[in-house]
Amino acid sequence: MSSLHSGKITGLRVLDVRFPTSLSLDGSDAMNPDPDYSAAYVVLTTDRGDGIEGHGLTFTIGRGNDIVGTAIEALRPLVVGQSIAAFTSTPGAFWKHLTGDSQLRWIGPEKGVIHLATAAVVNALWDLWAKLEGKPLWKLLCDLSPAQIVELVDWRYLTDALTPAEALVMLEKLAPTRAAREAEMLRDGYPAYTTSAGWLGYSDEKIRRLCRESIAEGFTHFKIKVGSHLADDIRRVSIVRDEIGPQHTLMIDANQKWDVGVAIEWTKALAPWRPLWIEEPTSPDDILGHAAIARALEPLGIGVATGEHCQNRVMFKQLLQARAIAFCQIDSCRLGGVNEVVAVLLLAAKFGIPVCPHAGGVGLCEYVQHESIFDYICVSGSLEQRTTEFVDHLHEHFLDPCVVKGGRYQTPLAIGTSITMKATSLAEHTYPTGTVWQKILSKK
Ligand SMILES: [Mg+2]
Repeated sequence: MSSLHSGKITGLRVLDVRFPTSLSLDGSDAMNPDPDYSAAYVVLTTDRGDGIEGHGLTFTIGRGNDIVGTAIEALRPLVVGQSIAAFTSTPGAFWKHLTGDSQLRWIGPEKGVIHLATAAVVNALWDLWAKLEGKPLWKLLCDLSPAQIVELVDWRYLTDALTPAEALVMLEKLAPTRAAREAEMLRDGYPAYTTSAGWLGYSDEKIRRLCRESIAEGFTHFKIKVGSHLADDIRRVSIVRDEIGPQHTLMIDANQKWDVGVAIEWTKALAPWRPLWIEEPTSPDDILGHAAIARALEPLGIGVATGEHCQNRVMFKQLLQARAIAFCQIDSCRLGGVNEVVAVLLLAAKFGIPVCPHAGGVGLCEYVQHESIFDYICVSGSLEQRTTEFVDHLHEHFLDPCVVKGGRYQTPLAIGTSITMKATSLAEHTYPTGTVWQKILSKK
């Protein structure tokens, strides 16, 4: 192994970082009225002596962020003391090692708090690797051979839908044309849509103003939250359609609010305003329910989208097999980090379903830009019906924040996963001791 990957992981630090977003209702939706966007934040250190650290996070909305931090601590013995090369030479095998601890597996497996913790650690490992290579994450992934990409994935439970051999053929087919798509991404960036205008807690005037601003910025796809009161939704959906005109695309998001029957009826009532998709219409675990909703809405030209709470690749496999989703919304931290995201990108490509990642929160936009660009260059080879969520909140806390211009994510050139936060932001927002929280808590 070259000296590029020499050394051991010698430290793992966890930070409980929270932003008081509930004060402004940024991020409010039908199920989450007062989120404080938060990150269970991990720093991996090594004995290399070059100061390079792997930073990673998983996203939560406040209370419970400390519980994820405790779960990350439980993973410490699986990471600290390992050679860097143990991860970079066979990242798929390392992922299985991280998710395969027999006792920790009992509190998953591969779902819930322990899987959010896995995501933070796995994403930190990728950040470390990308920084050692001096590349942005998307480029590190795109420079892997088809066989190396296949190795990233834990194929257990997937082979009835997609085998490693099939995935290899898919990846090899696109390999000769990767360079052209890479050049295109560097020139044009990746299509983005905005959710910033449509949070439930916003006034009509604010929605109108934000729609106009988003159009001026170059967005063509707009998503708003629905699901609390039908009359209110009809008013807000018609306001947005009125502002964006017939030529632009509207999506709606219910954040799991409904039972299956209600989801069908409520969405039908909003059909005159032609939403492209209804997102999270019901429980994220209800595959047959999503399939029923998809069948009922198909004649209206409305697709079902879900994934931000889809806990692992096995659930995505079933959603795809059941033709329950028309849009696959991977989440860079709900899934077990980059490795499992790649698994779902491959599955979606097999089923011909476009991946339109979930983002927003804190850091999710920073992550998914890399994953979407990799998807286009190496896995899907298509931009058709693909657009990645963008929410313009909290980017100022990152050293290399994502940049969206003209409605497109600009392909990131900074090395790493774009997720390293500014030291001052980390210190001020550490819960509950940071100065930002001290100020708020002292008033309560
Ligand atoms: Mg959503």
